[in-house]
Amino acid sequence: MALIMKAHPWKCGTCFERAVFPATLASYHARLDHDGRSYELELIDHHVFKCTRCGAVQLDDEAEDRLTQALRAAAGLLDPAVIRARREALGLTQKALANLLKIAESTLSRWETGAQIQQRVMDRLLRAFFDLEPLRDYFQSLEASSTSTGAPAQGPPLQPLSVGLAAEYRGSTHPTGTSPRPAS
Ligand SMILES: [Zn+2]
Repeated sequence: MALIMKAHPWKCGTCFERAVFPATLASYHARLDHDGRSYELELIDHHVFKCTRCGAVQLDDEAEDRLTQALRAAAGLLDPAVIRARREALGLTQKALANLLKIAESTLSRWETGAQIQQRVMDRLLRAFFDLEPLRDYFQSLEASSTSTGAPAQGPPLQPLSVGLAAEYRGSTHPTGTSPRPAS
């Protein structure tokens, strides 16, 4: 491990000594959880901040970015820049794509800036959408039919379900007419 001194030492968040210096770790290991799975990551020549007294390691934004990039690669997820580029190649705004996929525009924005890592299922959906023209056409047609039928339903989602169950319940306990009996 090479220790490179650049500035006055910072205060350590662990031992509170002013002994934190920029450092380049030849091998940095981390275990990160994402979307219900755990990933063992190793970064080579990772630029961090290390306390020379207690050994505590801190990451700045750049070091964090590199770590999440490694996580994306390990999980096989699309890069933020790729998501943006493929969306733009289709001539879609963030708002338009978010609407077609029924996700929040702010969510898509965070995927494209790297502030958030998409779930595996959403990554699959993005890939399918980008790769398959029939799927894009299908989503567009769903959108066209849902907007042509007027305002979206606003009622609470539980009400139609409970009404439906109640109707089914009545139907089974109050049969109309005489029930057929097996011949004795
Ligand atoms: Zn320390």
